[in-house]
Amino acid sequence: MTRSAGPVRARRAAGELLEVAPGVFCVRTPLANWYLLRAGRDLTLVDAGYPGQAGLLLSSIARLGHEPRDVRAVLVTHAHVDHVGGLPDLLRAAPGLPVLLDPVEVAHARRERVEQVGTATVLRHAWRPRVAAWAVRAVRCGGTAHVRVRRAAAFPAPSRGGALDVPGGPVPVPTPGHTSGHSAFLLPEHGIVLTGDALVTGHPLSAERGPQLLEGFFHHDPAGTVASLDVLAALPADVVAPGHGEPWRGPLDRAVARARRS
Ligand SMILES: [Zn+2]
Repeated sequence: MTRSAGPVRARRAAGELLEVAPGVFCVRTPLANWYLLRAGRDLTLVDAGYPGQAGLLLSSIARLGHEPRDVRAVLVTHAHVDHVGGLPDLLRAAPGLPVLLDPVEVAHARRERVEQVGTATVLRHAWRPRVAAWAVRAVRCGGTAHVRVRRAAAFPAPSRGGALDVPGGPVPVPTPGHTSGHSAFLLPEHGIVLTGDALVTGHPLSAERGPQLLEGFFHHDPAGTVASLDVLAALPADVVAPGHGEPWRGPLDRAVARARRS
């Protein structure tokens, strides 16, 4: 039986907690997603939502029957506030938890450098459909908060096959452009790639569903974002698990071709 391209019909555990594959959970919210990878009693968290979603982040761990101390590592696709916002609360609940990023992204997470779209840029685009409504929701969710992750560190050396020695065995895939040190994560066992903001399937600014790029003004280096699509297209995966939008089933090269047309 062949599976057609489209949204993953995942088992809906509760609310917006989707089991994309055994042990791979997507917490989908209208503003941003994060992921939990489970191996036995241990978890890896990938991304952490907005600051205003910290309670939801902690409750998503509890909904899986876990406690913050079960999280062995946090991986971050990139250090935008909607991907690291819940970390201060989680780190208070789980002191010592490592927060790992691409080496280039570490300074961004520590806010020694900022590559985040600013209020002035958003205001310049506020006349366009959906931008003002999204901005209000994002600000209410802590989108202008200054979240500094002092504990941010570079990925340790990977084991054979490039996998990190953390639950779920994700393989970092450098995909610079959206930010200088953006990283996707391939889950080879499942044919899933967590694409962060390098490739999404929806966003409050978009009227479309399906593989697409975010609005250009969100990207630190728009040309780099487009170039990184070639990296994603070559991955042996058939599920896009994005930072925004719903998980999407279909070969990566076709998802990328669709995003190029968006
Ligand atoms: Zn981003």
